[in-house]
Amino acid sequence: MTPLLPALQDGSGPAAAREAVRFGEHTLTYAQLAAASDALAARLAGAGRVAVWATPTPETVVAVVAALRAGVPAVPLNPRTGERELAHIVADSAPSAVLAGAGDVLPPALGALDRTDVDTSATVVNGVGFPEPSPESPALIVYTSGTTGPPKGAILPRRAIAASLDALEDAWQWTGDDVLVHALPLFHVHGLILGVLGPLRRGGSVRHLGRFSAEGVARELGSGGTMLFGVPTMYHRLAETLGDGSAPDAAGLAKALAGARLLVSGSAALPVHDHERIAAATGRGVVERYGMTETLMNTGVRADGEPRPGTVGAPLPGVELRLVEEDGTPLVGPTAEDAVGEIQVRGPNVFTGYLNRPDATAAAFTEDGWFRTGDMATLDTDGCVRIVGRRATDLIKSGGYKIGAGEIENALLDHPGVREAAVTGEPDPDLGERIVAWVVPSDPGAPPTEAELADHVAAQLAPHKRPRTVRYLEALPRNDMGKIMKRSLGA
Ligand code: ATP
Ligand code: MG
Repeated sequence: MTPLLPALQDGSGPAAAREAVRFGEHTLTYAQLAAASDALAARLAGAGRVAVWATPTPETVVAVVAALRAGVPAVPLNPRTGERELAHIVADSAPSAVLAGAGDVLPPALGALDRTDVDTSATVVNGVGFPEPSPESPALIVYTSGTTGPPKGAILPRRAIAASLDALEDAWQWTGDDVLVHALPLFHVHGLILGVLGPLRRGGSVRHLGRFSAEGVARELGSGGTMLFGVPTMYHRLAETLGDGSAPDAAGLAKALAGARLLVSGSAALPVHDHERIAAATGRGVVERYGMTETLMNTGVRADGEPRPGTVGAPLPGVELRLVEEDGTPLVGPTAEDAVGEIQVRGPNVFTGYLNRPDATAAAFTEDGWFRTGDMATLDTDGCVRIVGRRATDLIKSGGYKIGAGEIENALLDHPGVREAAVTGEPDPDLGERIVAWVVPSDPGAPPTEAELADHVAAQLAPHKRPRTVRYLEALPRNDMGKIMKRSLGA
């Protein structure tokens, strides 16, 4: 296998002067990143496992790169996680030290760990060089988002990271000339592996906004940024800013988005309404990709493909994907069209297993080695995947039908009186499950009525997809990635 980060292998090579990362005023060239991470890696050599206090800063990049160089598995920690969850993750992953910026104040849950301050200012590559660890050795342990239960630590070998990033290179014609505009947190796959290691593997650049803002996106895409990676809540904010084009900052944003090479959304379904509003204002479709902590990226719309609202594209190179019925029978051939099945995947992108969870690991794989994603989907005739939702929370069994929450959410979001929507099923004596819509109204003073929303959904979709109950909220419960926490809605 080629080294995971070839551009950092030789800090004095031709790419040395190129900007690797930029966080506001703070930039690191490849030479500077190589020097700083080498200096830290020399101190880490031999450590069992290290935690990284993953703030959106160059220190986090140096810490993760140093651990990768030294072959020491790194566990990125979410600085906004509550004490209890943090204590769980620390006890579960048992790091020997935590790497943090010198100014970071660490919470009591990390108190027992040795602390190593990350210095980004080393200037001399130590020249010792680090042998490339074996492809199967664990590179990162990334905790899942905890959407459906307590977060699980996914052991990600170097092989999986390299394979997934190379599949994206192929799909997106991703090169060292790309400049990625980034505003995601650095403790999940999306922000850390795709958003930081992706550009570094290619020898390209990342500009991190620190905090997402439509204005920051417009500024960076308008001044050299070529790609944007975001979660649906960010694209929603961009769609709102674009609005009908009349707001003062709408024109500049539309121009910047239109000029980007690639706008990518992932981590959750991008509502059709937001996709359409952005396409209408910019002439650009948002490219969706679908992945998980455990599998990295499974599918994606290609850079030369046609982004269609509601699809996450075809399986990426090297990824085998199939849909499977509840009894385990794969859906094949002509019967597969429109039939809903669980997505199962196999390929070099798939993780090794969950840390300390042999039972969960065993349960996650079929006998013949397919990983059960728990996500339900249909396949378009051209092989593109349409995600219906998660088996656990998004598939509602009502009146003999299996109904996906997503299409009802999209129909609700299409109503001008709805700003945010989530759909769940609740037990019902007649129907088995009853469709419940949770709605954040656009105007809290004049929310659309329950009957109006139910009629709107039934007219757009079908009578049996009509919500039986509508509950109004001021905001939906979301995690740090903007994912709707349906568990908090009783799903
Ligand atoms: P946990 O596994 O702890 O419950 P989680 O599944 O949300 O949390 P992640 O691994 O971060 O943790 O998220 C992967 C999930 O995100 C996928 O299984 C899928 O449900 C969802 N997802 C990711 N990308 C997309 C997408 N483009 N469209 C729809 N859903 C997506
Ligand atoms: Mg999951």
